[in-house]
Amino acid sequence: MTIQVKADATACCCCAGELYLLATLPHPTMAESSRQVRLCPRCDADKGAAQGLLSYFAVHGSAREGDSDFLARLIKEWLDAATAARFEESGWSADYEMWKSGEL
Ligand SMILES: [Zn+2]
Repeated sequence: MTIQVKADATACCCCAGELYLLATLPHPTMAESSRQVRLCPRCDADKGAAQGLLSYFAVHGSAREGDSDFLARLIKEWLDAATAARFEESGWSADYEMWKSGEL
């Protein structure tokens, strides 16, 4: 798995504000495909797992030397929650379980 995280002036697709981070991840079900996860200080303000990163960038502005281990933990926490939320929203696993058990 390759995760690329970059902090630049990429605009948020929802509010058009500046993103803190943009991560490009392999797509979970389609080989050769990728998807992007965005960290926006406005749109993600109410997401618990994003709070550590949002606070970090609000205070420091960008990644600082010597913080790589700390940032890696925050990024992992954010991406774990962001990618898990996508699956819950899609309802795929719940639908599949219902279909398997004959309820659908
Ligand atoms: Zn936004």
